[in-house]
Amino acid sequence: MSGNPPVVMRLVASAYKVAEKAGAIVRKVLHSGELGIVEKTGANDLQTMADRLAQQSICESLSRHFPKITIIGEEDLPPEKVQEDLIETGQAEEILQRSCPDEFKEVKEEELVVWVDPLDGTKEYTEGLLDNVTVLIGIAYGGRAIAGVINQPFYNYQLGAEATLGRTIWGILGLGAFGFKLQEVPEDRRIVTTTRSHSNKVVTDCVNAMEPHDVIRVGGAGNKIIQLIEGKASAYVFASPGCKKWDTCAPEVILHAVGGKLTDMYGKPYCYHADVKHMNSAGVLAALRNHEYYVSRVPPSVLQALKND
Ligand code: AMP
Ligand code: MG
Ligand code: MG
Repeated sequence: MSGNPPVVMRLVASAYKVAEKAGAIVRKVLHSGELGIVEKTGANDLQTMADRLAQQSICESLSRHFPKITIIGEEDLPPEKVQEDLIETGQAEEILQRSCPDEFKEVKEEELVVWVDPLDGTKEYTEGLLDNVTVLIGIAYGGRAIAGVINQPFYNYQLGAEATLGRTIWGILGLGAFGFKLQEVPEDRRIVTTTRSHSNKVVTDCVNAMEPHDVIRVGGAGNKIIQLIEGKASAYVFASPGCKKWDTCAPEVILHAVGGKLTDMYGKPYCYHADVKHMNSAGVLAALRNHEYYVSRVPPSVLQALKND
């Protein structure tokens, strides 16, 4: 491509490298053995040194390169100078070479909103369930999640030293999603994936209402979307207001780019404008195929319970 690629492509190319750097930080903190765990709202809502450093790295690297974008990160951090060794300046050449979908060619830097979950699955990270962990960078335009990057820092960790550790999945609406092999659960099997550490009666009632053949309980919103696109699960069902916009923005794009759908429990899409409330109050319902079936199975009592939150 001649000339300067559109800002959407440049931002995704940077986010790819920045997510890789954040993944490396997440691994390094684990190996240091000093997790620096802090409870945010309680024992099931944790922050570690990895969450803090990865967010500093992502937000500072992107805002230096793209000073006009709005960046919203999960962690509430005091303003302080970010160490230079946390800054990533690279861009993925492979992404810069791709052509930008027409509808995003004229988008301006100041119209983009970036939602950052520096470490999704913190609870599992502290418990050694390392493949549940992801770094999520989602990009929204006009309130719609349009591009996303997911880094999985410990992908392959159980295979030992021979295997390459970590991977990065990325996608843009209208272009596709890359960095994994798309697989589907056979049509006649309904496998539901849901939370392992934030469950309650409403969450469980809703999972059961789907009449699943099997239920997988794992950590992380990013991890659960990876299960959907790699043929491990058919639907992600979470009837709780616990997920936030930074949990769903990037995963939603990857799923949508391969023909799936992520909505609230009513089947309504979420909006990602800079000023929306952070909580996904009406829950998360996502599927690669047959999303409407899962929406139709949500019991009225579950919808009522979510309304009261
Ligand atoms: P889980 O499936 O439990 O790993 O949750 C997916 C994402 O939503 C993670 O980032 C969790 O931290 C977040 N989350 C879900 N429920 C809650 C909750 N009750 N309190 C705080 N965070 C939550
Ligand atoms: Mg998260
Ligand atoms: Mg997080």
